Amino acid sequence: MEHPSSASSNNNNNNVADNKSNNLTEIKQLKSRYYESELEREGLNSLTESLKSKIRALQQQIFSQESTIKSAQDLISQKEILLDQIERYKQKVTDSESHLSTIKKEIFSLKENNNGYIKKYNELQQQNVQIQQKNNLLEVDKQQLSKKLKEIEEENNLLNKELKQLGIRYKCGHCDNYDICSNCETSNHNRDHVFIKIKRPIGNDRFARTALLPEFKLIEQNEQDIDHKTVCNVCHKNIKGIRYKCGHCVKFEMCVICEAYPFNLHDPTHVFIKIKRPVQIDSNEAILPLEFRPIITKAANV
Ligand SMILES: [Zn+2]
Ligand SMILES: [Zn+2]
Ligand SMILES: [Zn+2]
Ligand SMILES: [Zn+2]
Repeated sequence: MEHPSSASSNNNNNNVADNKSNNLTEIKQLKSRYYESELEREGLNSLTESLKSKIRALQQQIFSQESTIKSAQDLISQKEILLDQIERYKQKVTDSESHLSTIKKEIFSLKENNNGYIKKYNELQQQNVQIQQKNNLLEVDKQQLSKKLKEIEEENNLLNKELKQLGIRYKCGHCDNYDICSNCETSNHNRDHVFIKIKRPIGNDRFARTALLPEFKLIEQNEQDIDHKTVCNVCHKNIKGIRYKCGHCVKFEMCVICEAYPFNLHDPTHVFIKIKRPVQIDSNEAILPLEFRPIITKAANV
């Protein structure tokens, strides 16, 4: 369509068209800028997101480091506790060691004591064995002695029987030939004379007519209370009254009680002298001759 004013209109139209195209371009540009800014925004968004996630990661890292620090601190305090405990255990060990050494010492001394006891026990055991052996020997001795004693007693019984049958002969020691029996023994023969008491017949009769005793020095004493000032070899008491002295031993005395005892163990082949009044006898040897003895077949080897 053609209008008179078309030129201007055209011009106008051209201007509008120019304007339009300018606007379009501008719009296009704006659009593209918008897109660009949109892109940019998206990029920024994603950047923000990635930064956020980085921050989170860092925060987590910080958190985990914090917890690591905390656990490290816990470990340090635990370590201190453990060190403390170790120190206490060490002290305990030291204490135990010193205690142990004390106990060891005690054990050692106890062991020594024990060894001493064992030694003593062994010694005692040995002594015991020795005593036992001695005891056995003594037992044997005892049996032998009791056997011998029995034999002697039997012997003595026989001798006493014999004696009763034979009677006792009293021979004056100072007269050449003066003999009396026990019944007449108290008769008034010279009271200074000492008699030999002969219980069993003398084998050798060569002495029958001989005075056998030397002169004794008499000691004056009250006759009611005679003390011979000598001790009985059997009972160890002072001899008073009558004193019996062995004629065949250098020094063997008996009191009247021990002499009368039927089992007196003095050699039965020895002859005693009967001293009524105290006399002094200084002889250092047997008073009677060795051969002036009774014959005793059995008793001779007792
Ligand atoms: Zn006489
Ligand atoms: Zn007579
Ligand atoms: Zn004698
Ligand atoms: Zn006596």
